Amino acid sequence: MGRAAAKGAAGCPFCAGHEAETPPEVWALRPDGSAPDTPGWRTRVVPNLYPALGAPAATAAGGSPGAEAGSFASSGDPLLTSRRAGEPDLFSARPATGAHEVLISSPRHVTAMAELDDAEFADAVATWRERMRAHADASCLQLIVNEGGGAGASLEHTHAQLYALPFVPAAVARQRERAGSYAERTAGAGLLADVLVEEVRRKERLVAIDDEAALVCPWASRSPFELRVIPRREAPRFEADAVGGAMIATAMRVLAARFGAPPELNLWVRTAPRGAEQFHWHVDIAPRLTIKAGFELGTGVDINVYPPERAAADLRDCL
Ligand SMILES: [Zn+2]
Repeated sequence: MGRAAAKGAAGCPFCAGHEAETPPEVWALRPDGSAPDTPGWRTRVVPNLYPALGAPAATAAGGSPGAEAGSFASSGDPLLTSRRAGEPDLFSARPATGAHEVLISSPRHVTAMAELDDAEFADAVATWRERMRAHADASCLQLIVNEGGGAGASLEHTHAQLYALPFVPAAVARQRERAGSYAERTAGAGLLADVLVEEVRRKERLVAIDDEAALVCPWASRSPFELRVIPRREAPRFEADAVGGAMIATAMRVLAARFGAPPELNLWVRTAPRGAEQFHWHVDIAPRLTIKAGFELGTGVDINVYPPERAAADLRDCL
């Protein structure tokens, strides 16, 4: 899927020299010791201007239980006769407290991580880890990268976003439970570690491997050219580890090579939620090549038109 024409650096709030156009920075990598909110940084972290999460509000905005059931209801209408009105669990809600940061990966106006050089890429990933560690008290940390308008990026200048959540999302909790029950069943083995051993042995979905991490097109990938970076040595927390950055770079670059330009994509880091020790961090990358339609939304079942074995073979040819 092609990208919209690049808008360029003019008016880009993430470019060096435009620091005044963002909220004040909360952290920056400044090897030259330059002052905050001035040029001289290599990576720069600012609060999201439109945060999904924030400080606790002074007053909670609750529903109004006295609201009318609906003036359109007539006598005998189940809307009027139900005795179950006022069930408190129907509309459960909680304040969206937490932090939402933007991690700007380069002072240069680069629109895809694939275009960062090795040193820039390493700085970007080190910054992800730095900010995740700064929010270690959160129940769950979600770091993501959106590249391209079709993947949800509203600004093209390459950046990541970190969400420090006050709860553990269902998908993360499910992985935690599965890793825990696998360990119980196998006297302590790691689920993803065992999957990795088998992927390396079979090779059909393996794209690349180095001393630190492997790159695979996961078994039963939900969309074409999905990629997963898995550290060779099992570790629960991405932010407490130091490996895998070079393989994330390989993943982004091999996708750009396969498609002739960086495709629109989403990247997310799956790291252990607070308190979970039986866990294996990994990084997933999903190019936005297809659209989820009615069947996928209705069933939760994804149809992948390009099997991971074929995608892996393509990508090995592009290394
Ligand atoms: Zn820019």
